[in-house]
Amino acid sequence: MTNDASPPNLTQLPPEMLEFALLKTTGALAPRLGRLTLPGRKTILTPGFLGNTSRGAVPHISQDNFRNASINGVYVALEDYIEKHPETTPPVFQIDAPDSLRRFIALPTDTLLVLGARRQPPIPSPVANTNSEIGLLTSYGFRSISSEYYAAAVRKLQPDIVVGLADIPFGQETVGLKRKDKMSDRTEVWTRDIIAKRNGIEKGEPRYSIFAPILPIDQDLQSWYLEHLLDDMVDDISGVAIYDAYLLDDLPEALYHLPRLSLHIPAGPHELLRQISLGMDLFTIPFISNATDAGIALDFKFPAPQKLDSATSSSRQSLGVDMWLASHAESATPLTSGCTCYACTKHHTAYIQHLLSAKEMLGWVLIQLHNHTILDSFFSGVRASIENGTFEQDVAAFEAFYEPSLPEKTGQGPRVRGYQHSGSEHKHMAKKNPKAFRNFEKEGVLQAMHGQQPNAKPEMRDVIDDEALVGLVGLENVEQGEEAEKLKIEDAKS
Ligand SMILES: [Zn+2]
Repeated sequence: MTNDASPPNLTQLPPEMLEFALLKTTGALAPRLGRLTLPGRKTILTPGFLGNTSRGAVPHISQDNFRNASINGVYVALEDYIEKHPETTPPVFQIDAPDSLRRFIALPTDTLLVLGARRQPPIPSPVANTNSEIGLLTSYGFRSISSEYYAAAVRKLQPDIVVGLADIPFGQETVGLKRKDKMSDRTEVWTRDIIAKRNGIEKGEPRYSIFAPILPIDQDLQSWYLEHLLDDMVDDISGVAIYDAYLLDDLPEALYHLPRLSLHIPAGPHELLRQISLGMDLFTIPFISNATDAGIALDFKFPAPQKLDSATSSSRQSLGVDMWLASHAESATPLTSGCTCYACTKHHTAYIQHLLSAKEMLGWVLIQLHNHTILDSFFSGVRASIENGTFEQDVAAFEAFYEPSLPEKTGQGPRVRGYQHSGSEHKHMAKKNPKAFRNFEKEGVLQAMHGQQPNAKPEMRDVIDDEALVGLVGLENVEQGEEAEKLKIEDAKS
């Protein structure tokens, strides 16, 4: 559906195209090394990660310290910007200049910008998807947008990469066969839509690259979509966005050359390693900010350090340090010895513990900078290990050295925002933030998503017929009582 009669021709595409070079691969379902380049943007070596933004910023990291955060690319969700759609035109669309989304969020020009419809992780929406629309959560509540609106928004916002719309009933406990058929049909239509709209953009206007979603359902159930993707869309897409890493063996071979963005939310570094071992390239990692909000300074490296003392080998090392503990009050060491981040090179542990106790925002800023550096080093280590051919052994050593999950949250996090609540409770809440004064006894409980770990609820596996959706359903898994208690205590003081 291009404007002129001639079909799109690859050789006519402008030179400023996204390129992905596979530097090393040892076959299907094996870790691989790659390099994602776009002229004018920082190169992203894979396996690697994107900063996961919230309303335009990586949480706690303002523009002035973004440079210190070791982030070469960001993931941004459209649902963060379309408040009051369709009644009023969202402010992000009122910027009449090129690169409008980048300007709106003051993102440095050399940072890769990836746009998707939904946040990572997405809050399940009570607005059901239809043949032409998907439900999402704006700061003014649940809305829906059409595939056409999405394409128009992307054209206006000019991200470098856009993740195509996928029909996924997030949070639904059981997904029937008929519904899965629909997922495949709708996603096929929507992917075709955005490709046609992008190819219709006139020469001279910037064109974005498209990552096609791969649904979290078995291959035979999305075969209709995959067949069409291979038959007539493969030349128009620059990557795939994968919602279930454990279905990677279903990925058609004709798509192997494309970069793989994981939208399968990892609970911790062990799960990241599992996804990498299956050949995943790029990640958004919500657990970084969740750990930061909980006051946890991540503390792990890959490959894991050699065990110095075999006598202590029975206890595994924690993946993070709880900065709320008063025991840090006199510690003059960096958060992690040898860490090169801004926090560790300029401040010591006791100061950061003091900042948290005083509820100073700077405390979370420093921990967030540190946590991103820890992940950046982790991925460098992973790439070196794949290069050396020792990845498998290194993963086994990592698993033996570190505890299987991140430490539990003990202290209070920063103020909870609307999108941090689960979808089920949105139905009962008129306001996103609790009132300052209210009846102590009668208030319903609030669930916060901080510190929650998707997939941490094994019993959910029995109620869901599709493993892929488990992590998305597990979003409701939080300690309600505790969270509500904290909110009440804070309210009582204010
Ligand atoms: Zn550090």
